[in-house]
Amino acid sequence: MKDIRIDANGELRCWKCGSKELLDRRTTRAHVVGFVTVGVGALATRKKLRCKACGEYNQTGNAQPLEPKPAVTVAQKMSWVDRTNAKHERIKELKAQGVGHTAAIKQAKAEGY
Ligand SMILES: [Zn+2]
Repeated sequence: MKDIRIDANGELRCWKCGSKELLDRRTTRAHVVGFVTVGVGALATRKKLRCKACGEYNQTGNAQPLEPKPAVTVAQKMSWVDRTNAKHERIKELKAQGVGHTAAIKQAKAEGY
């Protein structure tokens, strides 16, 4: 299990997938430990949040800053329609520069369109 992440807005995020949908629940093991060591188990029963999106448990109490996501190209941020239009524009542009049709499509794809 890994430490939960915290984003720039101070919101808790799943360490694995970055989801904000976290369930406030202790693991089965934590229940048992907490029961056995009742009274002294404050640390042992540190709350764990389960991610609704991927099902991973997140250890709380020592939140780590959210790791920056890999750079996303402008084209990847667009909607499918916008991206398709942008791709066609890019292909047109390349073809205007004398690039062949297939090569233009390939290049536009390689650029993230
Ligand atoms: Zn997750």
